[in-house]
Amino acid sequence: MSDRRDILRGIGAGLAIGLGSTASARALAREKGRKLGYAVVGLGYYATQQIMPQFKNCEFAKLTALVSGTPEKLTRYGAEYGIPRTHWYDYQSYDRMRDNPDIDIVYVVLPNGLHAEYTIRAARAGKHVMCEKPMATSSDECRAMIAACKAANRKLMIGYRSRFEPYNRLAIDLARSGHVGPTREIVAAHGFPIAPDQWRLDRELSGGGSMMDIGIYSLNAARYLTGEEPTYVSASESTDRSDPRFREVEDRVNWEMAFPSGILASCVSSYSSAHNRYRVTGTKGWIDMEPATSYAGQAMRINRDGTTAPRVLPTPEKNQFTAQLDHLAQCVLTGDTPLVSGEEGLRDLLCIEAIYASAREGRRMEVAAV
Ligand code: NAD
Repeated sequence: MSDRRDILRGIGAGLAIGLGSTASARALAREKGRKLGYAVVGLGYYATQQIMPQFKNCEFAKLTALVSGTPEKLTRYGAEYGIPRTHWYDYQSYDRMRDNPDIDIVYVVLPNGLHAEYTIRAARAGKHVMCEKPMATSSDECRAMIAACKAANRKLMIGYRSRFEPYNRLAIDLARSGHVGPTREIVAAHGFPIAPDQWRLDRELSGGGSMMDIGIYSLNAARYLTGEEPTYVSASESTDRSDPRFREVEDRVNWEMAFPSGILASCVSSYSSAHNRYRVTGTKGWIDMEPATSYAGQAMRINRDGTTAPRVLPTPEKNQFTAQLDHLAQCVLTGDTPLVSGEEGLRDLLCIEAIYASAREGRRMEVAAV
């Protein structure tokens, strides 16, 4: 029991450190006399069904503007969220956000192939940026996005929501502190059977198949659970090219990663089968998460010294979406660097490029440095 209390205390401390100082953000927000305003760009599924409903629970953030190429969506969501017409934009008028002081942060929730352009334009318009994962479709684009935000002195954060989800945060603390002994192996699998006829299957808009979209959760988890950067990857791809969904992008990728401390990770990415789990195995047991990175309902089991037990956490004050939105607003207020900065997105893209190259060339590849 005392062990459990220590760990819970540990998470509290971790949250305070990792997510920035809430007290100073509160004082600064009071000084500013308002919450920070977000413009959401791309009113598709994730933006409208998952992100926008969360602003009502935010302490430091509010929704103040909408960007869409579809006038009916602006009318509908403008009415639903009380956003005046003066704060509606389309992709042509986007840059005029520069003149709107109610917008502090632009949240890019567009298809992957558009992330770089709209991040760079937002930074040039003087706005901080939250950009969805994958950060972009190549490491070159990621570097250009980082450079544009740096040049404009604006913050850039990538929408890796699991870093704000309590079970994943606990798994990170437990794995890195050796709760089940030093980590030897990580197994991570993410996938879903993809429906036909959508931008995710169009290479120009997606940048790739399952690896870019859902396999990135296995990759990112292996990196955040170890706190290390992989030295090499070794990958295989399997795609049925007669399936009309996979004319342009891959279906499945399995890969291994080796980390400097000797940890090996074995990962799965799939667009034709459902997976959402990871397991960290140490010398004294394992930490199991299934589902691991879902929108809700994470389930954790821990095996230590031969005994297996579920671990149940109290419902957090802020869920992963709210905590993520508030985190960037807090960072803007306090000047802190976001927990998941542009460099974090770039590191995943560098790994993905090595994974694709390894599958293509049939040999193991080193991961390029940031
Ligand atoms: P979606 O298709 O539901 O929405 C995309 C939106 O972009 C639509 O409103 C569409 O009209 C708009 N759009 C603008 N220009 C377009 C173009 N040229 N082609 C196609 N659509 C265009 O997709 P989504 O599921 O909301 O995904 C959007 C982004 O969010 C992706 O980068 C995806 O990886 C990310 N995402 C993240 C999570 C997460 O859990 N972090 C979950 C889902 C999606």
